[in-house]
Amino acid sequence: MLVVRPSPIHSVGVYAAKPIRKGTRIVEYTGPRITPEEADRLYQNSQRTYLYGLEDGKTVIDGEGLAAYMNHSCSPNCEVDEIKGRVWLFALRDIEPGEELVWDYNLYDDEAPAPCHCGSPKCRGTMYSREWMARMRRRDARKRERVRESSRRVPALHQENGNHASA
Ligand SMILES: [Zn+2]
Repeated sequence: MLVVRPSPIHSVGVYAAKPIRKGTRIVEYTGPRITPEEADRLYQNSQRTYLYGLEDGKTVIDGEGLAAYMNHSCSPNCEVDEIKGRVWLFALRDIEPGEELVWDYNLYDDEAPAPCHCGSPKCRGTMYSREWMARMRRRDARKRERVRESSRRVPALHQENGNHASA
């Protein structure tokens, strides 16, 4: 049903060899199960990982096999779903033979750049989730606000010093 071959998105991708109907459970996201701490230790300096965090927040699948080869797209034709601790990729719509199977990674919990090259007109430019990007923007805004506050405080301090000097 699936073939792996070079992808214009990134290195290799997974392609439909036969038509896939909307809702089909296509492939399980498999791999060793590790803790988030182990994942951090193993992949701290890695540019690209194939980690999938389960809803329990305590388990990460270190993806290997077909599902891990599936690329990210901002206009996905597949979606990921966790069912009783197992993770599956489902078809979001009918998929034609020859189409690359892609899902929205919705990355989170990291700050390393993860630029997206999916080529979709709706591309958001990053593989991070909208929620995570919004959180990062709010955090950056708070950081900028603190910088502004401290630069306002500096002239005030100078003035104070000046007053002391002239007293
Ligand atoms: Zn994109």
